Amino acid sequence: HAKSAGKAAFLFYDSSMEETGLERLALENDLRKALENNELVLFYQPQVDTQAGKVVGAEALMRWRHPEQGLIPPFRFIPLAEEMGLIAAMGEWTIREACNQVKRFAAAGVVLPKVAVNVSALQFTPSFSRKVRAILEETGVDPGVLELELTEGVVMGDTSTSVQALGELRDLGVSLSIDDFGTGYSSLSYLSRFPLDELKIDRSFVVDAVESEEGASLVRAIVAMAQGLGLKLVAEGVETLEQYDFMTATGATVIQGYLFSPPVPADELAPLLSPWHFQEQIQGLEGNIQR
Ligand code: C2E
Ligand code: MG
Ligand code: MG
Ligand code: MG
Repeated sequence: HAKSAGKAAFLFYDSSMEETGLERLALENDLRKALENNELVLFYQPQVDTQAGKVVGAEALMRWRHPEQGLIPPFRFIPLAEEMGLIAAMGEWTIREACNQVKRFAAAGVVLPKVAVNVSALQFTPSFSRKVRAILEETGVDPGVLELELTEGVVMGDTSTSVQALGELRDLGVSLSIDDFGTGYSSLSYLSRFPLDELKIDRSFVVDAVESEEGASLVRAIVAMAQGLGLKLVAEGVETLEQYDFMTATGATVIQGYLFSPPVPADELAPLLSPWHFQEQIQGLEGNIQR
């Protein structure tokens, strides 16, 4: 891994990517100031409960509004932020901003029942729950509204530390979701050992489910397991009617994907939160399915 080879090696490590070493260096310099310059923004992607016909939450997804390059997606700067030791501060900003957005919505009479925030493995330190508590106290947001998305790698890093840290977070009243489920560790025992609320089925499984019988079987197994463990499910990256049909018929009825909406700025999310917004679309989808 480039990380262990030091920073200089890291600069040249990804020579196959679109960025040259110099471009990356420039981006690094800019990233150092992005937070204080207020260049980070959150987009929100709705999670639609297809049975209730309404939005049950939204995932907050970070973007970097670069003064010259415009909107930069996370895959271009989150790994850099992790490498540079900036991710903890940026991740704290994300949680605070998401909580403040919930309050801004509420002040405008708009209810966002849940906001999910991604947590980097490097952010998940022993002091993390204290920071989350401080943000909740500072913003006054109901902890039940905040959901933290952790990847399997985060949770599995150090098992005993994780159990304690997750327990502390749960005690605060926030809920915990496993992001990109199925793409990380092969051990499933953590699912019952850790105080989790939700699994997010990774988009790759959603894609495979309609491509092959093996893919379909895997999703059926994941859904059965989540149901058996009493975990909520969200299907990530649903784009097509066929994927919608398979996931909902299999029991993964909460959908987050381009089929319903890409991540959008907060002001564009507000109208999607009306209880009627997705009902017609869902009726249309259901009308196109023969069951
Ligand atoms: P993720 O947490 O798994 O987020 C889901 C990603 O899938 C988002 O990409 C979203 O735009 C994309 N997506 C949703 N529906 C569809 C679909 O139907 N089709 C396709 N092709 N893609 C879909 P995005 O916003 O580019 O974020 C990428 C990753 O960056 C996230 O994956 C997450 O791991 C990371 N990330 C984003 N914001 C933050 C943050 O604030 N903190 C940390 N640590 N990581 C973040
Ligand atoms: Mg996520
Ligand atoms: Mg994900
Ligand atoms: Mg993913």
